[in-house]
Amino acid sequence: MAEKTAVDVLVVGSGPAGSTAAAYAAMGGAKVMMIERRSQVGVPVRCGEYMPSNGEIVNMFPSLRDEDSLFDIPARLKCRETLGIKLVDPKDKVTVLDMPGYTVDRDAFDKYLAERAVKAGAELVTRCDFEGIEDGVAKTSAGDIQYRVIIGADGPGSRVARNLGLGRNQNPYPAVTAQVKGDFEPYLVMYFGDIAPGAYSWIIPKDGRANVGVGCSPRFSRGNVTDYFDRFASKRGFSEHSRVCGKYVPSEGPIPATVSGNGMLVGDSAGQVISVNGGGIPLAMIAGRIAGNVAAKNVSSSQPLQDYETQWREIMYKPLRTAAFNKKLADMFAFRSERSTALCMALLGKRRLNNLIRCKRLFPRRHLLRCL
Ligand SMILES: Cc1cc2nc3c(=O)[nH]c(=O)nc-3n(C[C@H](O)[C@H](O)[C@H](O)COP(=O)(O)OP(=O)(O)OC[C@H]3O[C@@H](n4cnc5c(N)ncnc54)[C@H](O)[C@@H]3O)c2cc1C
Repeated sequence: MAEKTAVDVLVVGSGPAGSTAAAYAAMGGAKVMMIERRSQVGVPVRCGEYMPSNGEIVNMFPSLRDEDSLFDIPARLKCRETLGIKLVDPKDKVTVLDMPGYTVDRDAFDKYLAERAVKAGAELVTRCDFEGIEDGVAKTSAGDIQYRVIIGADGPGSRVARNLGLGRNQNPYPAVTAQVKGDFEPYLVMYFGDIAPGAYSWIIPKDGRANVGVGCSPRFSRGNVTDYFDRFASKRGFSEHSRVCGKYVPSEGPIPATVSGNGMLVGDSAGQVISVNGGGIPLAMIAGRIAGNVAAKNVSSSQPLQDYETQWREIMYKPLRTAAFNKKLADMFAFRSERSTALCMALLGKRRLNNLIRCKRLFPRRHLLRCL
């Protein structure tokens, strides 16, 4: 990279949010650079690698349009079609929910999205760490970058957010994952509360393999997430597994504002994650497309960046707020002990658990106000 580079749009981070934003900004005619601090896009994998089907994504976000062009994932990247989710309570009672989806290898998936951005005209620079903003210029480990618009897609602990003076994710929780070999049924299996209060674990099937992992809320779980992973692995008989990798998952829904001056935040950096299950890939891509389009139009015809805030909120805010509220209810009533987790899951029953995973209301609002 030259000593001082000048671009229209600088995207920080090459996860699903950054690559999608870079692709759409480049397709809109902007000169785009996407920087990534890792040496390889998508490596190491720190994800459950599950994607709901396009129909399920629209079910969660009914105002979303043109989903097929956004989630145009080639068949070769899909490891396994899945039929649904099995929710298992601490007493091993199973509730089966239909929810078609598929699993991917996140490293290949992220590489595909980054290549899509490069094909559209964006420049990708790896091993380039964003350090901060000084006098409107981005300082990076590879030199200064002058930009007209900056898009922060740098994950849950976003440095871009801090530099733009935007809020940070509150109470993110740690989650770790690894790969195991074996044949698994075509269902995601999610265990709640069986290794510790406030902790959950999963088995997500792939082709002759599975992604297995654990997430835990520090508010209820006294232990360390990697110790919980060991407990889970030994309980489920996964004596051999790949290296355990993890990161933080935003848990309280979107941050209050995602635009400041000539900067925007997308994906995990903006808290665009479903609080009740930690899913964030589809949301990162939905927001990435909007941010990329708005950035290109800002450069070509001064469209206000604030339109990004309006447009993503129209599609995602209500379901995300509902999911964050449902997560608060779960924290208040369910996650305290094995007993309360089992009781709450039994009380909710299949219909409400279906609503829970699809970001829908559990109870009519007036009913809730009476209870709280
Ligand atoms: C254990 C675990 C399991 C999960 N399972 C699922 C799942 O099954 N399905 C699902 O939909 N979601 C899942 N999620 C959530 C999902 O991984 C995220 O929501 C998604 O990756 C968000 O995409 P993003 O592009 O916003 O951020 P990221 O994918 O985190 O990408 C951010 C990128 O920015 C780079 N970066 C960070 N700082 C800098 C810097 N200073 N300079 C340059 N580059 C930087 C990082 O290296 C990274 O490549 C899971 C999360 C975890 C932790």
